[in-house]
Amino acid sequence: MEHHDIVIIGGGPAGLSTALALSQAGVKDIVVLEREAETGGIPRHCGHMGFAPYKNFGLMTGPNLARQLQDQTKHLDIRTATTALGFTLHGTLRVHSANGIIEISANKIILATGTRESSRAARLVGGNKLKGIMNTGELQQRVYLNGERPFKRPVIIGSEWVSYSTLLTCRHLQVKPVMMLTETSVNAAPSYFAYGARLLGTKVLQHAKLIAIHGKTTVEAIEIEQSGRIGMVDCDGVILTGRFRSEDALYSNGYLEHEDHAPKVTDSFKTSRPNIYAVGNVLGHLETAGRCMAQGRDLAKVLTP
Ligand SMILES: Cc1cc2nc3c(=O)[nH]c(=O)nc-3n(C[C@H](O)[C@H](O)[C@H](O)COP(=O)(O)OP(=O)(O)OC[C@H]3O[C@@H](n4cnc5c(N)ncnc54)[C@H](O)[C@@H]3O)c2cc1C
Repeated sequence: MEHHDIVIIGGGPAGLSTALALSQAGVKDIVVLEREAETGGIPRHCGHMGFAPYKNFGLMTGPNLARQLQDQTKHLDIRTATTALGFTLHGTLRVHSANGIIEISANKIILATGTRESSRAARLVGGNKLKGIMNTGELQQRVYLNGERPFKRPVIIGSEWVSYSTLLTCRHLQVKPVMMLTETSVNAAPSYFAYGARLLGTKVLQHAKLIAIHGKTTVEAIEIEQSGRIGMVDCDGVILTGRFRSEDALYSNGYLEHEDHAPKVTDSFKTSRPNIYAVGNVLGHLETAGRCMAQGRDLAKVLTP
């Protein structure tokens, strides 16, 4: 079994900034586990501007920020295509890579596994399983990493700021969404985002709920309810955006105390287990990348007083 001083699970902005700040503070034995083929986390496939290494929005694209982080951490022991599968009863980590499954123990383990969007099932949307239904993460991976153009007339469901990020991805594809539909009664992003959407020629329909998605093999229409009336909207894709939840695969079995779908942590990022910390979006909110990186630097200060 391997043993390390610090193991960080997740090579996104939060995990990499923690690793970088720890190494700058003199910590030698740090391992970062990242399940994807490259580190960088979500920014790696967010091709639009709006990223910065500090707290506020900036003028970098996501891939540029991801590359900057990769460069800054390339001297560290970063293991890509390596997934933390879970904790054993003895507190060690089961880890899968091309070499098989191994156990790793560590003096301190840091969860930096980010968030995921709610699935169609979690949103109770009816209809068949069809091609053309995806969340923002899948859309951005297909567009920015695989160069695909999955639809021509999608509907965007949601009104969080990530929903507007989807609009920018559609613009990048030269695809004009049929409409944005907010399932809640309010626009969850600042109201000027909705003006921006209209300026780009996309109608924003508020107080409307997606009931079902219809089609034979691919999406052909959605059924929506607004003010008690049911209607159909023709489209060839549905992008389900937002409603982010902490990536809870490693702790939802009760290994860590959690509430409201996020691990319980103290002000110094400590979970209910004395040697396990959590940082970044795994804490349950979709923050900016800069804010997650700042949290990583703060956590490094806690661990190297
Ligand atoms: C569509 C979209 C647009 C956005 N636009 C902006 C923007 O314009 N500006 C901005 O500042 N922020 C933006 N954000 C937010 C920003 O991307 C996040 O705040 C940031 O990526 C969070 O960093 P993180 O490290 O906490 O999580 P993530 O970036 O999600 O990284 C988590 C990493 O952990 C890995 N991982 C998860 N589980 C395991 C496991 N079991 N084993 C190994 N590895 C694992 C994942 O593969 C991932 O690489 C956007 C987010 C989305 C979804």
